[in-house]
Amino acid sequence: MSIAENLRNIIESIPDDVTLVAVSKTKPIEDIMKAYEAGQRIFGENKVQEMVAKHEQLPKDIQWHMIGHVQRNKVKYMAGFVNLIHGVDNLRLLQEINKQAQKHQRTIHCLLQIKIAREDSKFGMDQKEINDFLTSEEFSVLQNIKIVGFMGMATFTNDLNIIESEFRSLKGAFDEFKTIKTDNCEMDTISMGMSGDYQTAIKCGSNMIRVGSSIFGERVYSN
Ligand SMILES: *Cc1c(COP(=O)(O)O)cnc(C)c1O
Repeated sequence: MSIAENLRNIIESIPDDVTLVAVSKTKPIEDIMKAYEAGQRIFGENKVQEMVAKHEQLPKDIQWHMIGHVQRNKVKYMAGFVNLIHGVDNLRLLQEINKQAQKHQRTIHCLLQIKIAREDSKFGMDQKEINDFLTSEEFSVLQNIKIVGFMGMATFTNDLNIIESEFRSLKGAFDEFKTIKTDNCEMDTISMGMSGDYQTAIKCGSNMIRVGSSIFGERVYSN
């Protein structure tokens, strides 16, 4: 099936209030343009340089989401245009995002990456870390960022029971912390669900899914 057909099938199968991020990492400009022409405006990339290059070549009404792990020294390249950064999991990174956003006189929206997978994942915060983070003085002074929700990734497994329980724990954490409302924290977004598990994620309360291969086909990595 074509990219446009894949996109249409997914959009028809999800509720209207769920935002679809089309994950275009490794895919060429032509593929992104096919999705764009079919109406898609939100695209996700996991490498800063690749996202910057695509942003330069593609229509300017595209909203770019950074879904990968971000190194602090790369933030400056995307600070002028990035629409949402999904994987924030430490204060020093957020401080750098704030600093670069300030230079561009903008507020950059971010999601905190939460550790939900049972397997030892390198990235993400646990509940105590989130609490310490959101209530800290260092966080409260950041005026050019806004935490708008949580992002999580389930264990890489075919067992939907495991995936479902992890998604439910992310939703539980979200419900608990969304009561915190400050100038730079107001949460309405739960980013969870990819090609293999987005139906389960939506059932568990996700309102933002990040789908790549089900739209663009399998990724081929060279090198
Ligand atoms: C690649 C990626 C996706 C999309 O994965 P698919 O299985 O191709 O849908 C979603 N989220 C993150 C963080 C990714 O790196």
